Amino acid sequence: MRLRNVKGSRETIAANPLVICDITEKKGQWHEVFENSKPLYIEIGMGKGQFILEMARRNADKNFIGIEKYSSVLVRALEKCETFEGDNLRFIRMDAEKITEVFARHEVDGIYLNFSDPWPKDRHAKRRLTYRDYWSRYNEILKPEGEVIFKTDNRPLFDFSLEEVQAAGWELTDVTCDLHHSPAVEDNVMTEYEAKFSALGNPIHRLIARR
Ligand code: SAM
Repeated sequence: MRLRNVKGSRETIAANPLVICDITEKKGQWHEVFENSKPLYIEIGMGKGQFILEMARRNADKNFIGIEKYSSVLVRALEKCETFEGDNLRFIRMDAEKITEVFARHEVDGIYLNFSDPWPKDRHAKRRLTYRDYWSRYNEILKPEGEVIFKTDNRPLFDFSLEEVQAAGWELTDVTCDLHHSPAVEDNVMTEYEAKFSALGNPIHRLIARR
């Protein structure tokens, strides 16, 4: 998702206390940002933020960081947070390619990848957030018992991701090709894309992976 450039979005982001700017300095110190040692969950490519905001609302005992590449998208998430009163949610604008520069070894308890950009052309496969190089990065920052939870309605991307997970030596602990008609739907928090595509009748696929 790349929205048209939103005028002043960089300034809006810099002025918002929910957005952390000097991110490499926080590596290994994220508990200090939240001023507690609650478990830390991140969503990479959080778009307009519906999922991460609802997760933060439902789980006051956990900390959440939404990560988004584009300012024009991140400002939309910040607008949604105007009435949020919790202290367990922050945002970062960055390219996930550099994720290991921002989080230390085993600093993260869980990673959410929701409706990641599919990059359908073979020559762009390396850009997919479930490409094998990304699994090495997730391996570095995730706690040994931590999980990556990936949802998409895109079947080719899902099949690619299943192959990459296993090629990277991870274990699949749960796989469903129709999340909304499985018992797991009870605890499911919908993303913007999930709401849009499930309304069109597309089945939602989900995998959960751990080392
Ligand atoms: N997760 C949201 C949802 O399910 O509604 C948004 C999905 S949207 C298709 C994918 C989002 O990931 C976009 O906002 C895009 O800018 C962001 N994104 C893609 N590649 C990224 C990267 N390398 N680092 C950070 N964000 C990225």
